[in-house]
Amino acid sequence: MLLAPLFSPDDLRRWRSCERRFWLARHRLQRGEPMTALQPPPDPDVALRASFPHADTVAPPQTPSQWVQAMGHTLDCLDSDEHLPEGWAILGACLTSEDRVQVRIDVLGAAPGGGLRLYKVRHATVGDDSDIDTVALWTHVAARCGFAVQGAGLLLVDTDFVYPGHGCYAGLFREVDLRPVLGTRPVAQWLGSMRHCERGAEPAATPGPHCHQGEGCEFAASCNACAPPRRARRAGGAGGPLQFVPAAATVARAWPHPRHCLRIDTIGMAVPVWSGTRPYQTLPFQWSCATEAADGQWTEQHFLADGQGSDPRRAFAETLLRALGTEGAVLAYNAGFERNRIRELAQWFDDLAPALDALQARIVDLFQIAREHCHHPVMAGSWSFRAIARAVAPELDMDVRLDPALGERANPTAQSVYALMQKPGQRLAVRHACREALQAHGQRETVVLRRLVGVMEGAGE
Ligand code: SF4
Repeated sequence: MLLAPLFSPDDLRRWRSCERRFWLARHRLQRGEPMTALQPPPDPDVALRASFPHADTVAPPQTPSQWVQAMGHTLDCLDSDEHLPEGWAILGACLTSEDRVQVRIDVLGAAPGGGLRLYKVRHATVGDDSDIDTVALWTHVAARCGFAVQGAGLLLVDTDFVYPGHGCYAGLFREVDLRPVLGTRPVAQWLGSMRHCERGAEPAATPGPHCHQGEGCEFAASCNACAPPRRARRAGGAGGPLQFVPAAATVARAWPHPRHCLRIDTIGMAVPVWSGTRPYQTLPFQWSCATEAADGQWTEQHFLADGQGSDPRRAFAETLLRALGTEGAVLAYNAGFERNRIRELAQWFDDLAPALDALQARIVDLFQIAREHCHHPVMAGSWSFRAIARAVAPELDMDVRLDPALGERANPTAQSVYALMQKPGQRLAVRHACREALQAHGQRETVVLRRLVGVMEGAGE
């Protein structure tokens, strides 16, 4: 008799979300068709290694024979007679229980009073129900393998952590003890129900919010009852050109030259890479500026923090001050965002603060004028930057474009592309492609601002 593939945490996640999803995935696996991992394990990156400086790392297995090797490696580490130093753990410990569940545990270490403790690592500030399910399953497997599990929990990012630099990430993660809630997860009973479901007939579809949670169900397209909800549009039709009331032209023509159309991009990284910064702290990494001189000529300037390791904020502030000079209007959309970033730069750099603070009085918020004086069918009742871009620059694709082969997700954002570029040890070719994608993105955004200013000035003509 051919045995079904071993159960994994992904099977449990699917089963907890929808029996039909679980059944379809399991039958696909039985036919030898691969399934995409729902939550790929975290890289044992520099931050995790710093928390467990004496860790053994088990490479992620891909094939059955690699799983056998990985389990052997895990058991060798656990059987070692050597004294285990403080901070010892196995990163990516691989275990299989006799009830046919296979798991790769993010962190498996020695508990202070004897026995083992295990952790799931989340590059996030909070965990969710599926994290508890996963830890409960890992605990079940470790116990069935004969290990005394004395501790189980999550390692979450501590937002109070301040990165001192030099790769010192000790203290980045905070532990959340899950033992008090693991009793609410009857894992052995679940596994029995999963086996029963797998052997039974294909369950009926039960459409609901679970079909679209997270990345969404991989069977939604073939599950007729579960077509994704259509986004409602409050108005239809392409309409003509964007129109402003004539009063907008009076306001726009009064803006002094040089006029600087400014966009700033920021990122909040779970694992800070610049010393003195915290996890998820909003940090500026790119500005893009199109400047119109009094004679109507436009020039483009751009800054992207692409040095790895060194804090780019000072260079960001200095180059921005040079680009914006001391005269003219600074035109931004939803300008509170740009105002706040400039205010933060002034707080970080005392010597630059007077010049940065002086920018505040020159900033004009185009969003306020747009919201009061224009609307267009393609904006569908929204005044977001993307909505206004659809109205003034419909031919521009406002998504960030990067070759998926470079390792980025299907719909990258400026932030995800920047994070990819800044990944330690990133290949030069990838960094170069990211830089080009980000620059092109910033340039398209300033084109939208230029068009918007032009439409405002021409209102009523
Ligand atoms: S689309 Fe919804 S009902 Fe259908 S299998 Fe997926 S989660 Fe279940």
